[in-house]
Amino acid sequence: MRIHEYQARSLLTQAGVPVPASEVVTTIDDAASAYRKIGGQVVIKAQVFAGGRGKAGFVKLCNSENEVKAAAQFMLTNRMVSKQSGPDGIPVKKLLIASAVDIESEYYVGMVIDRSRNVPVMMVSREGGVEIEEVAARNPRAIVKEWLHPHLGLQPFQVAKLIKSLGFTDKTQMRDARIALLGIADIFLKYDCSLAEINPLVRTPDGRVMAIDAKMTFDDNALFRHKDIAAMFDPTEENPLEIRAKQHDLSYIALNGNIGCLVNGAGLAMSTMDIIKLHGGEPANFLDVGGSVTPENAVEAFRIILTDPKVKGILVNIFGGIAKCDVIAEALITAAKQIGFKVPVVVRLEGTNVEKARQMLKEADIKQLVTATELTDAAQKVCAAV
Ligand code: GDP
Ligand code: MG
Repeated sequence: MRIHEYQARSLLTQAGVPVPASEVVTTIDDAASAYRKIGGQVVIKAQVFAGGRGKAGFVKLCNSENEVKAAAQFMLTNRMVSKQSGPDGIPVKKLLIASAVDIESEYYVGMVIDRSRNVPVMMVSREGGVEIEEVAARNPRAIVKEWLHPHLGLQPFQVAKLIKSLGFTDKTQMRDARIALLGIADIFLKYDCSLAEINPLVRTPDGRVMAIDAKMTFDDNALFRHKDIAAMFDPTEENPLEIRAKQHDLSYIALNGNIGCLVNGAGLAMSTMDIIKLHGGEPANFLDVGGSVTPENAVEAFRIILTDPKVKGILVNIFGGIAKCDVIAEALITAAKQIGFKVPVVVRLEGTNVEKARQMLKEADIKQLVTATELTDAAQKVCAAV
């Protein structure tokens, strides 16, 4: 689960990390009144689940109420397109207005799981700010890492090493940088994050160290033990079809192609997408109905796939193990009755109860339904059909 910057800022504040004062608004008028409260120079920032806002023009410094109004108007009426947003961009519904700070240096501080070592890793860099991805690609040595012992966490000697690598020498600045590093590590471990970062952590000309941007994502499988984090969920920023799928125990990820996929098992779903691409097609989604799928949830899966206007054909690929082919056949028949198939549906079934399933489909005689003998045949047929 992702959260907004303003929510991540509040977690940092709770951890004692210095963060400039800010307000969150949803209208131009409220942006203006927030400016009147904060005053001076402010920074106005789109609150969306994608980075690269600065380069996209969705982080703006403003010196007057009129500038704030203009920036708010621009951000609330234009979709933000950045490297991380996808080509269609994202609409902006919330803005953060924060007291601006003067910046002398920008640093990066972040933590993720290192999957090759199976432990969290803290990464810091003197070259923080909007170019950190390029720094990682161009000059990986500019990013200094410390791996956490799984039981001992971030050790004081590691913090000291990281602070030194960032070049801090002033006592107060070292203390504040230490608070920032420990704060990120605490939040990451306490809340089961998959990512927690401050970018940039800044040093001001008058010697203060502060976090002015933060990003955090959380492991969905651990949310049950963090009710306060789960409460931060913002459904308006997520794909509505993905939310609907989750409510029906379906793993669904929307993609850009035109062939809908309904598959059981994540691995089979991945290889189904591969084989579609191999035959020149483009999948419209990833959809794993799971092993213990009910007929109701399988029908919902068809509804979700068919709600996507890009879908011009569907490939149903079921290898019945725990999931039974007849359950899927029943769902196909119900979906055909209730929703109606306006696009071709190519079906490949194998495994548990396949004979029964084939018989059911034969008797139902569904228009638009095409049966396939095996996976290559299925992929060729659905690619040809779209
Ligand atoms: P991102 O582009 O989505 O990561 O958004 P950030 O909040 O990190 O802002 C991008 C860049 O805008 C930062 O790296 C800073 O250079 C600049 N910026 C953001 N806030 C301030 C501020 O308060 N004062 C100044 N001078 N620059 C800022
Ligand atoms: Mg940033």
